[in-house]
Amino acid sequence: MTSLPLIPVDPDAPGARRAAMPPQHLADLDLAGRKDLVTKLGESAFRARQVSTHYFGRLVRDPAQMTDLPASSRERLADQLLPRLLTPVRELACDDGATRKALWRLHDGSLVESVLMGYPDRVTVCISSQAGCGMACPFCATGQAGLTRNLSTAEIVDQAVYLAGVAASGKVAGSPPRLSHVVFMGMGEPLANYNRVIAAIRRLVAPAPEGLGLSQRHITVSTVGLVPAIHRLASEDLSVTLALSLHAPDDELRDELVPVNQRWKVCEVLDAAWAYAARTGRRVSIEYAMIKDVNDQPWRADLLGRLLAGKLAHVNLIPLNPTPGSRWDASPKPVEREFVRRLRDAGVSTTVRDTRGREIDGACGQLAAAEDSGTDPAGEMTA
Ligand code: SAH
Repeated sequence: MTSLPLIPVDPDAPGARRAAMPPQHLADLDLAGRKDLVTKLGESAFRARQVSTHYFGRLVRDPAQMTDLPASSRERLADQLLPRLLTPVRELACDDGATRKALWRLHDGSLVESVLMGYPDRVTVCISSQAGCGMACPFCATGQAGLTRNLSTAEIVDQAVYLAGVAASGKVAGSPPRLSHVVFMGMGEPLANYNRVIAAIRRLVAPAPEGLGLSQRHITVSTVGLVPAIHRLASEDLSVTLALSLHAPDDELRDELVPVNQRWKVCEVLDAAWAYAARTGRRVSIEYAMIKDVNDQPWRADLLGRLLAGKLAHVNLIPLNPTPGSRWDASPKPVEREFVRRLRDAGVSTTVRDTRGREIDGACGQLAAAEDSGTDPAGEMTA
């Protein structure tokens, strides 16, 4: 069994080593904060709204295109409000361009990744909330490397804004040009970077020019199950979708697959999920990676069905994406089908996640891991 400190490590805790955070960016601040900052720079407060309109409304970050600002202050305002946070290292595409993965280098050299997925009716981005992750789930590539640091609010928001710009450029063929959905399913545990993730969600849902104007219901926060933080999330005036990475219905196995279970057991984490559902009216998504001969037995499907029957829940089965060197593999399709059948027989709504981006390591920290180790993750890439 993986050992874990009983309380997850919080890099922001008093006494913890402070990792190098990036420069402040307008997406770190609400509109009032941006006005204060601009005034301190000796500019009129309304410049804050103008620059915000470029960034969030028009998805423009190049000062040369901000022709409504006096030429004399364009560069300075852009330097102060829009410092470069993400430097693209690689952009890969697959599924005929409908899936695009971005690997970014942050100002301190940390690597994080985001994925843009186009569908006929919507465009989704999957974003990271931390560089690395401290949760140590043994099947997850990010979990193997440990936590480097929390991302700032603007580093989180900028992934979505940048990829909203890619979508708006029409590069995602066959999809609407407007970003509509954001999932916190990239690197990191969002609820372990709580304040910055909440501020990022507020920017994503605020109407332009304060934010990106997405619907709260189109934002999904995925968590290993930090129980106090789930309760806290329920008390925010946000009705985002909660996804709980359960992966096992019994404590014995979940203690191993999701080590934070050693602190908060299956029954506690499910109680927190039901409290979230009751408070927000939102159906909770139960994530379950199907791992061959590990968590895919019929009796585990039945146990999961009993835990979830009658609850405001939906099961999302994820075929395991094997990480390099891992001893684990995805469940065979007939086993997966039987698992789905048993859950549905128990009255639990269940779907199997599509495996977008497999060939570009589109899941779970694998691109960043490959870049760090100097291997080529690209395979047969088209871009
Ligand atoms: N830390 C958060 C969000 C990041 S991961 C969480 O754990 O929920 C998003 C989802 O991908 C989680 O359900 C996670 O368990 C799952 N995942 C991680 N590695 C995987 C892999 N190799 N194959 C399939 N799913 C994986």
